[in-house]
Amino acid sequence: MPAIKTYTGECHCQAVQFEITTDFPELTTCDCSICRKKNALMVKVSESAMNIISGSDFLSAYQFHTHTATHYFCKVCGIYTFHRKRVTPDYFGVNVYCLDDVELKGIAVRATDGIGML
Ligand SMILES: [Zn+2]
Repeated sequence: MPAIKTYTGECHCQAVQFEITTDFPELTTCDCSICRKKNALMVKVSESAMNIISGSDFLSAYQFHTHTATHYFCKVCGIYTFHRKRVTPDYFGVNVYCLDDVELKGIAVRATDGIGML
């Protein structure tokens, strides 16, 4: 497992920059209707471990179904950066491919059940 530290991340055009603090206990995939289409690989962090450095004006929010989860993406480049989770709304799922300088190899990946959530 990588050491616990603060990792920076950004969308493709770098309008949105953020940082998270985690030791990557696991990565998750999800088979819900939106995560499948995003092909998302995520790490879960509490909102206290997540900080938007710049570009919050560039974030668009997308909601559907129960309108609890909020899926954010950059309105310039379209990249999914993170989302506020539905079952645990004080947590974010973060797109690990937006993060800088993290070695993902060797971190366990857990497939979570999204499609079964009604
Ligand atoms: Zn962008």
